[in-house]
Amino acid sequence: MLTVDGDRVATTGGDDTALAFVPPSDRAEGARLLYLGRDDDGAYLAQILGSEHHAGDADRRTDDPQGSTTGGSESYAVLREIGWQLGDRDAGLAVGALALANWHHTHSHCPRCGTATEVIDAGWVRRCPADESLHYPRTDAAVIMAITDDAGRILLGHAPQWPDGQFSVPAGFVEPGESLEAAVRREVFEETNVVVGEVTYRASQPWPFPASLMVGFVGRALAIDVRPDGEEITEARFFSADELRTAWTTGTIRLPRPTSIARSLIEEWFGEPLPEVETARRWA
Ligand SMILES: [Zn+2]
Repeated sequence: MLTVDGDRVATTGGDDTALAFVPPSDRAEGARLLYLGRDDDGAYLAQILGSEHHAGDADRRTDDPQGSTTGGSESYAVLREIGWQLGDRDAGLAVGALALANWHHTHSHCPRCGTATEVIDAGWVRRCPADESLHYPRTDAAVIMAITDDAGRILLGHAPQWPDGQFSVPAGFVEPGESLEAAVRREVFEETNVVVGEVTYRASQPWPFPASLMVGFVGRALAIDVRPDGEEITEARFFSADELRTAWTTGTIRLPRPTSIARSLIEEWFGEPLPEVETARRWA
């Protein structure tokens, strides 16, 4: 059983940190239990502690490559900071537990009648006792895309809430009634004035902060008159591979964390992992 406290998970601590698993008998008083699944080694549960540190709907970020360093117990860590140290199984368990925990925290009452709902199906459904409606965890689709021009350069932008020099690929939420491809084209045009033609799916990544699924694409720019919108994106430009390598190795720019889909899209375009640089420059 793993433990979730707000947006943090219990870890073993230290340099080789891993998820801290405890037996179900160590359940904290009042903790909510969720069933996460099983494999040949056994079943996995999560206990959700009460906390003030939830990632709420107001914090609807699509791409937070810099994450945050919060204090608190040494044996808890924000998933964004330790995710790269976890194997596939543990990363999947932690992401699922956080996504469910966030959903429970923000969906305690029936959206139809306002009655407090009860948790059923081992934490995967909430049921309204007044009108018997069932409510399921939600996932908000977001697109993230590597846009290239005819010269093979990649479009990167800087958002005002990021540290100076932090660049990433464009991203944004899918709107109601919109296809993923249309969302790619709209977001890029709104943020940078770049017109995108062909769009191709590449990969996806769950991003439970609080409930996103990042869907990654590559796209071709048809028109490259780059004009940042000045609000969501304050700086944007196309980089050639040589320009990016130089900016990266000299510390002129910062790029998303190695575990992020943003980084994998950039490195796929680059053709290889970016060279190692001083940790302080690697990400904010
Ligand atoms: Zn109801």
